[in-house]
Amino acid sequence: MSGNERHTLEIRGLEAAVEGKQILFGVDLTVSSGEVHAVMGPNGAGKSTLSAVLLGRPGYHVLAGSVTLDGEDLLALPTWKRAAAGVHLIMQYPTEVPGVKLDDVLAEALVSRGRSANGLENLLRAEAARIGLDTELLHRALNVDLSGGEKKRNETLQLAVLEPKFAILDELDSGLDIDALRDCARRVEAASNAGLGVLAITHYSRLFEELRPDTVHILVRGRVVASGSPELADELERDGYAKYLGSEPEAPAAGKRTGLDDLFAR
Ligand code: ADP
Ligand code: MG
Repeated sequence: MSGNERHTLEIRGLEAAVEGKQILFGVDLTVSSGEVHAVMGPNGAGKSTLSAVLLGRPGYHVLAGSVTLDGEDLLALPTWKRAAAGVHLIMQYPTEVPGVKLDDVLAEALVSRGRSANGLENLLRAEAARIGLDTELLHRALNVDLSGGEKKRNETLQLAVLEPKFAILDELDSGLDIDALRDCARRVEAASNAGLGVLAITHYSRLFEELRPDTVHILVRGRVVASGSPELADELERDGYAKYLGSEPEAPAAGKRTGLDDLFAR
């Protein structure tokens, strides 16, 4: 995308449940173009649930709140339209898709976004070199038999080619070695400097050695319990999450729920 377009991804009062159990209890986050927001939290805090709800993964139910992209209701859209609208997810565990080649996927994705797939091969080769992905993998089935590091390089390459407005990274740092982490984080940092808005969800601050957050949010038991400057990530690395655990009330009374808004049943 061009660096002078400004976009806003706004999450307001988001409550969500999975398997009938409420996991998110009112999350508020606003990310604008070019900003990197870190969402850090202990295991089970709801980090992956947040990413799943933002992209409309089946089985995750929105109970209350809103998510808008430039004022448009994102939650009303099916997953593919959310992606085409410019919200790109890199999953914690990228899915293997046998029989579907990476270059074919990207050609289709570009066309469905109203862009041309001409010159894709050259772009793929340039991005593969930049991110350290073996060019042979460009013409193989998506993520099949790839190492953890290759999968994340592959996913980051897709992000670079598709140039979404916003990227949601769910533990980009999980399952890959230091070199792959540095290459992927560096590529996302470069994209953010060119205007990409980033929601970087992670457990550890090591991701932020290359990808510099503007703001750090701490998610505990489905709530943002603190937001602050990047130093907050260093503090967490030093002291852990203990200070933030038990600092907020237990789940609200059942009466607070606003009814199941099952957007995935459509
Ligand atoms: P995090 O990514 O922060 O570690 P998750 O969002 O994966 O946390 O999980 C938050 C809580 O939701 C956990 O208690 C987890 O067991 C539960 N949970 C997540 N996904 C599912 C699911 N598909 N089915 C049942 N429970 C789930
Ligand atoms: Mg997770």
